Amino acid sequence: MYDVQKIRADFPILSREVNGKPLTYLDNGASAQKPQVVIDAVTQAYSMEYSNVHRGLHFLSNLATDKYESVRGKIATFLNASDESEIVLNSGTTEGINLVAYGWAMPRMEAGDEIILSVMEHHANIVPWHFLRERQGVVLKWVDVDAEGNLDPQAVLDTITPRTKLIAVTQCSNVLGTVVDVKAITNGAHAQGVPVLVDGSQGSVHMPVNVADIGCDFYAITGHKLYGPSGSGAIYIKSERMAEMRPFIGGGDMIREVSKDAVTYNDPPMKFEAGTPGIVQTIGFGVALDYLMDLGMQNVAAHEAMLRDYTVSRLNGLNWLHVQGTTHDKAAIFSFTLDGAAHAHDISTILDKKGVAVRAGHHCAGPLMDFLGVTATCRASFGLYNTKAEVDTLIDALELAHDLFA
Ligand code: PLP
Repeated sequence: MYDVQKIRADFPILSREVNGKPLTYLDNGASAQKPQVVIDAVTQAYSMEYSNVHRGLHFLSNLATDKYESVRGKIATFLNASDESEIVLNSGTTEGINLVAYGWAMPRMEAGDEIILSVMEHHANIVPWHFLRERQGVVLKWVDVDAEGNLDPQAVLDTITPRTKLIAVTQCSNVLGTVVDVKAITNGAHAQGVPVLVDGSQGSVHMPVNVADIGCDFYAITGHKLYGPSGSGAIYIKSERMAEMRPFIGGGDMIREVSKDAVTYNDPPMKFEAGTPGIVQTIGFGVALDYLMDLGMQNVAAHEAMLRDYTVSRLNGLNWLHVQGTTHDKAAIFSFTLDGAAHAHDISTILDKKGVAVRAGHHCAGPLMDFLGVTATCRASFGLYNTKAEVDTLIDALELAHDLFA
């Protein structure tokens, strides 16, 4: 049974107060809080088990290396990748997508080649592709969402032309919570020979992920949203694609031999991991994944679906509040605006006074904001430890904000 109070007790920060009120943390879409097991693992790694990895032959280096390397397998299990060699460890989704842009896309794309993006991508899945547009004349083709904020897989597939070299889409919008059928997109794209990159930064947090079933070529995740340390993350890369990639960042660890005249590279995935990595962050990330797998992502998804439906039922009573996008079949992420002159920042400041942490702004999704015709929204994004009582606290705080600005 999913015991949310027991789970909350695992997260020390949830018992603190903010502005004299109990913390109601609804900014999980930006970054999630950490359970004590992750905090303990980080402390243990720094206090008793720290050394650089891969390089030394001494006890501590071997210990740190074993702990660090074991995370690759945990990520492969979490994502259901067929082999841990398909997992490149990194600092998060942004680095993962940049690796694909520089290592895979840049060497194989020419002026006039096309990349298809949805209008609801995060800047992390936009700006690296703009680099290709600016530097080599690659054309970015945008697919709109419908009035409910849903992305029709067929609309994506209809955009493919003989020049299409990649589709890059999110599995879950960080603004609307919309879930995208990335499997349908991948199936259709592969039938036309087009690889697919999935931004799993939000999707992996809210639902069980099975990259083998999705069939995608690249799937990027980020540790700090998965209840792990910031500066940790990974990207799943199908072995055929990895074999096509050039290294991106050069330095130690990713090489086999270096001389004045030549360099040879380590085997993948190490070929794509240069320099001293986020050793402790990655070890903590592994513990966070253990925590999630113990809870079961299916159970997390069911709990969050309950919170989503309850939130919808409470928001429905507020006719001065406008939720952007769909309210069903999505992750428990709500972006909204309020009638009247109140700016999203003012609303979030009032909520903060009540101890409610939400995000306000463009949420790193400029094209989506343009599409929606807004400059900013407030976003309440739920996580595995949130409760119905916290939804009520949010609604009370919103009513207060509305009264103040009405
Ligand atoms: N993609 C999505 C959908 C996101 O929500 C985020 C973070 O908010 C990112 C990518 C970037 O993740 P990171 O900053 O951890 O690299």
